[in-house]
Amino acid sequence: MNLPAASSTHVFPLLADPRGYQACPLDLRDQPQLRAYWIGVFRDHFPKLIEEALRTAEAAGQAVGMVHNRLRESQVAFHQWLDRADAEPHGFGRLTILTMCIERERVLRFAGVDDAYRLAKQRENQKALSVLPSLLDQLDAMPDDARAVAVIEGIFAGNIFDMGAVQTADLFRDGASVDFHQVRGRLAKRPWLIDGLDSWLARLRGKPYRRAVLFVDNAGPDIVLGMIPFARDLLRRGTDVLLTANTLASLNDVTIDELHELLVQVATIDPVIREAVGKGRLSCVASGNGYPLIDLANVSLELVEAVQSRAVDLVVIEGMGRAVESNIDAVFTCDALKLAMVKDPGVARVLGGRMYDLVMKFDSPA
Ligand code: MG
Repeated sequence: MNLPAASSTHVFPLLADPRGYQACPLDLRDQPQLRAYWIGVFRDHFPKLIEEALRTAEAAGQAVGMVHNRLRESQVAFHQWLDRADAEPHGFGRLTILTMCIERERVLRFAGVDDAYRLAKQRENQKALSVLPSLLDQLDAMPDDARAVAVIEGIFAGNIFDMGAVQTADLFRDGASVDFHQVRGRLAKRPWLIDGLDSWLARLRGKPYRRAVLFVDNAGPDIVLGMIPFARDLLRRGTDVLLTANTLASLNDVTIDELHELLVQVATIDPVIREAVGKGRLSCVASGNGYPLIDLANVSLELVEAVQSRAVDLVVIEGMGRAVESNIDAVFTCDALKLAMVKDPGVARVLGGRMYDLVMKFDSPA
């Protein structure tokens, strides 16, 4: 059985303190309230995951009854594991939300479900691709600074496509969707919960970065209307871009295979992306990850080699799971940008903010 990230033990080379680094530093063993909160979140979310998995199975012509039975067994196994984690929190080593994600993927793959959200991702990818040409026209008509702000706002708006968070999952339930432009128009006003926009804009007016590595998050508007326009803006400013996506599917995260396909489609729409791919200025690589969060001490050799061979001087991590829950305090040897919309009340509380608050953390090495 192919379990996520089982064989990769490579450390992301741009971590400033690889020995001191820990993904998801918040250990739930000694945090009974937070532990109970997260166990509740994972428990309440699983039925939503089953619904999406059944829709995917049905669309693929699978025997839905059998898939349903296997998923119900997975749910029982996962709930038993959560019960044990709550009753014996010290029996698991570190207990974090990443540990819970790992266990959830384990029970799903044991049931033969390797991509529960495939259908939802395909639907949102197609919808986002139809919006992309007019969005790019709109961005191209803007002056430099305004465009830099608009692409960041686009990342926030696209990041609302998150079927791992209970509240935003409901926005996309049963084939429902949201309008990208409406979401972008209703984003929280500045100053954002963490607001590094001014220093980012000031930095962009200086010498361009050589190469950036972008850890992308979800499929649909997140990648197509958020991260690809952001990557395109960096390319236009003279920065080469390496996109890195999950090796294996998890929730509605875009996988590396899906990203390759999307880039081919975007290249047919947009000459800037087409030229950048053709010249090798835009490329993508599998991260080795198979979870909605990421442990940067456990990435693929492919990613390590790609970063080392390209003299990367900017790290961008996007999405609540990767940028906030697992890596908000991660320090890098180069400039780093962490971007996310907050879509969980527990995460909001830890950050001292509210639902749908925005995080843009921009750090330069001391
Ligand atoms: Mg995600």
